[in-house]
Amino acid sequence: MNGGLLSALADLVLPRTCAGCGLPGRILCRRCAALLAMPRPATPRRFPWGFPPTAAAGAYSGPVRPAVNAFKEQGQTELARPLGTALALAVAAVVCAAPEVRGPVLLVPVPSSRAALRRRGRDHVRELTTCAMAELRAAGMPVEEARLLRRLGRARDSAGLSAAARRANLAGTFRRSAAPPPGALLVLVDDVVTSGATLTEAAAELSRGAGAGAPPVLAAVVAATPRRLLGGRSGGDLRVVPKRSENVPDDPSGRLSGPVSRD
Ligand SMILES: [Zn+2]
Repeated sequence: MNGGLLSALADLVLPRTCAGCGLPGRILCRRCAALLAMPRPATPRRFPWGFPPTAAAGAYSGPVRPAVNAFKEQGQTELARPLGTALALAVAAVVCAAPEVRGPVLLVPVPSSRAALRRRGRDHVRELTTCAMAELRAAGMPVEEARLLRRLGRARDSAGLSAAARRANLAGTFRRSAAPPPGALLVLVDDVVTSGATLTEAAAELSRGAGAGAPPVLAAVVAATPRRLLGGRSGGDLRVVPKRSENVPDDPSGRLSGPVSRD
């Protein structure tokens, strides 16, 4: 009997525990889920030039780390739902803080490397995207998935590389497989942002050749590596993110949690 089947059977008889904190009960307890319900701008420590305006549903720290890893690397696919909800919240936050949107909102999953897809046997970012789309549509935001990027095979796994080495490793990694529809608002979606190198490369490739009036490429992630800011401010205001701040509504804060609030 293989390990996967054994663990599936064990799930039927053993009580579930939270993938974040280990509390018996749900796959992600309320307290841990609440850590992923506070969209904030993702601000990598060495803000890479060209890093897209990015919202994260929570900080990649504490119980969020084991929860994301259980989903990503340990095959706990049930977490797609709560983590997809978190991603939906981040998408809603970054879209609401963006300049006025006329065209469709398209979620562009960041493709994993072929080696990672083989190792995991699944595309976890697309699983998240599917769940996030369902949440956003249920909340009245019409979004579509657009798989506009493919990944060329060259880049090594970036774990353990410095920020500069990550960028060098990723240069030329992504290829646009189709031109985005004119006027579409593109939102890159991924699980976690750490150095920002992946999102920066992906956004550069997506916006290649875009006209001057094209909306900026945005990004949304489940969690972002927290940045220790002087004075301890956590940076909860998405207005600091977009480069063209004059286009951002004066008070986006009231809208950040609106569309996908569960209350
Ligand atoms: Zn928990």
